[in-house]
Amino acid sequence: MTSSRFCAAFSRRHGAFCECLPVTVPGDTPRTRVRRIPEKAVRDVGALHAVLDAGLVAHVAVVQQGQPFVVPVGYARDGDTVLFHGSSKSRLFTALAAGAPTCFSVTLLDGLVLARSAFESSMHYRSVMVLGHCKPLDGDDKARALRAISDHLLPHRWDDIREPSAQESKATLVVSLSLSESSVKISNGPPDDVTSDVDRPVWAGVVPITEVFGAPVDAPDLLPGLTVPDYVQKWTR
Ligand SMILES: Cc1cc2nc3c(=O)[nH]c(=O)nc-3n(C[C@H](O)[C@H](O)[C@H](O)COP(=O)(O)OP(=O)(O)OC[C@H]3O[C@@H](n4cnc5c(N)ncnc54)[C@H](O)[C@@H]3O)c2cc1C
Repeated sequence: MTSSRFCAAFSRRHGAFCECLPVTVPGDTPRTRVRRIPEKAVRDVGALHAVLDAGLVAHVAVVQQGQPFVVPVGYARDGDTVLFHGSSKSRLFTALAAGAPTCFSVTLLDGLVLARSAFESSMHYRSVMVLGHCKPLDGDDKARALRAISDHLLPHRWDDIREPSAQESKATLVVSLSLSESSVKISNGPPDDVTSDVDRPVWAGVVPITEVFGAPVDAPDLLPGLTVPDYVQKWTR
């Protein structure tokens, strides 16, 4: 099963980022089929997009000379790709841009599940894994991708700030990764204790975890008279 219609729709709207690989339903390839606790697998492209849109940080893996490295990065989803950037001097990003195979993962932690046994205690989460090869972006695609990443972290900010200079752009590698092979796992629900533990006189339940943005703090060298813009003050996700 594919959802290349998402791909085509995105291409029509925005042009360049889409690599036009057929987007399989999450968990639809042998290596992305969730085997452990498969009832937590979500085989839905909408859920894949929703988790990616809700996250701010991804972890990107690359193996170099047999050693796996995992790099945390900011990112954005654009249609059926994810976009992220790093230093042109980074050997890991250089390897990714050259097409090294990768696993891109986003995890949102939603709660602690306190069961009556250590074995059944767990977490509420939404997580995504994407497998594939990155593609380096240049020119207008690169500029649009940098804006997309900024817009994902904080919409409207790009319009206020200085755009990258030619030198800054040269120092930055921007890559896209198709969502063509992915998996989504979502864990929710109450503790799943074994019947023999339910009579134990110990509290069990879920402690939710939510994202909170604190009050903005002025830069020490802020020009006098400037106040926190509305889009920063009101930014919640
Ligand atoms: C916040 C958090 C905490 C966790 N803590 C633990 C822990 O302490 N111990 C533990 O064993 N497991 C934990 N998990 C679950 C863990 O991520 C794996 O799903 C689990 O260990 C099974 O791994 P596996 O390789 O045997 O799965 P398999 O089902 O064999 O993996 C097959 C395929 O399923 C997909 N897949 C597997 N796990 C995930 C996932 N989490 N998200 C998206 N796709 C996935 C991948 O495409 C993978 O290639 C945690 C998950 C999260 C998000």
